[in-house]
Amino acid sequence: MIAARRLWPLLLLVLAAGSILAIRRQQVLIPTRPPLEVAATLAEAADRPEPPGTAPLLEALRADLQVHRQLIVLFSDEGKLKGPDLQRALAVGHRLHHERRDLVHQLNAALTGLARQSAVTRDPVIGALLDWMEADPDLLALDRLAFRDSLRVLQRPLAADTTPTGIQLNLRLARDLKEVDRVESQVDAEYQRVFGGPVSPTHGGHRDLWQAYVTELQRRLPLEPLLKGAAIPSPAVSLQGSREINGSELPEKVLILSFDDGPHRIYTEEIKAILQKEQVPAVFFEIGRNLGVQEASGQIKLSPLSALTQELVQGGYVVGNHSYTHAQLSKETGAPLDLEIRETDQVLRAIPGAHSQLFRFPYGARTALQLQALEPYHLRSVLWNIDSLDWADPVPSSVADRVLKAIAHEKRGIILFHDIHDRAGKVLPVLIPRLRVEGYTFAGLDGNGALVQVDKP
Ligand SMILES: [Zn+2]
Repeated sequence: MIAARRLWPLLLLVLAAGSILAIRRQQVLIPTRPPLEVAATLAEAADRPEPPGTAPLLEALRADLQVHRQLIVLFSDEGKLKGPDLQRALAVGHRLHHERRDLVHQLNAALTGLARQSAVTRDPVIGALLDWMEADPDLLALDRLAFRDSLRVLQRPLAADTTPTGIQLNLRLARDLKEVDRVESQVDAEYQRVFGGPVSPTHGGHRDLWQAYVTELQRRLPLEPLLKGAAIPSPAVSLQGSREINGSELPEKVLILSFDDGPHRIYTEEIKAILQKEQVPAVFFEIGRNLGVQEASGQIKLSPLSALTQELVQGGYVVGNHSYTHAQLSKETGAPLDLEIRETDQVLRAIPGAHSQLFRFPYGARTALQLQALEPYHLRSVLWNIDSLDWADPVPSSVADRVLKAIAHEKRGIILFHDIHDRAGKVLPVLIPRLRVEGYTFAGLDGNGALVQVDKP
């Protein structure tokens, strides 16, 4: 099991180590080979000591991959998971996802910091990380799907570096991302061949490539021990007598898109661009600590990511409170519970136009007590009735298919996506036109939770 808290100090050390350790220039080797040439890479790696500062980042990447694999094993028989079994898988999945979120948050900060350091410090460490992703003998080809977000986080600050080593590093990142794309389109095409794509009929057959991957993961990670860990309760239907909104009360054929856990420096903008192109409203439930902090003086200090929230508001999107640290609030009471709600409320008030009365409990985990805690803030709980499971499934057509099936069953509702992965951005350009053809319209919520119908039926 991963230990995200243990890794955080290690990741901070990476940044410190980078600035104090002089690394000789001849160690800055940017291989020009294509990815996946395992033997050549290993031979080269054997001659070269691991650059200082690499170990904690590698440990974090390995831990992230481990959760990615565990989620795949957990939902590998999703079609057969029904009733209590599905609830159990969701509950355990939410816990894994919870652990992964903190890890990824810290990993992204460390990778961004690393990519901004001087080439002499940065290049050997990034080189060693890419060596691992490209050629570690323990990795399976489909594991690459777990690396996209880290590669893109590294790529962003490096894109402007036009020095020779910067260009080489950018080329290598671009090649690795292309390899992720290739693997993804293979499994996606295979899914479509077997189940039909979101716009084509079912063909039948087997997902051989995907199944071989899942079988190997099942061999390495048996499901039973995974299911034994403490689980986060899955969202139930709205609590009796509450003012909760969960989507099942919407008029027939009306859908609302919601995106949780952001903002993300890459994916929030990409999703916003798609929504603008398609002229679809949406609600973004954001985590307060991504946006800023309330200082001892009571002053709110906004973080750079809050600029993305500002852009969402200017684009006409509604922003809601998704707690301050994405804690499991059904376990919290009293002052700690109040702080989770209040701090994000305050931070959102400090971003012009961003404050609303909408609140989403992380994992939908709450009881009547937590709903009561929203009242002093005049907040209203918003759940969902269509879960994309985009946090657990790396195959875009599979995510799209799951959403379409749930919509066919529910006939209306609030769809849950996340803007901290690339998944939603992959499936929305297919889903939105397809659902419109089926007669669905996309609506929004205003800041008070009232339905705003924008689409013409
Ligand atoms: Zn969330």
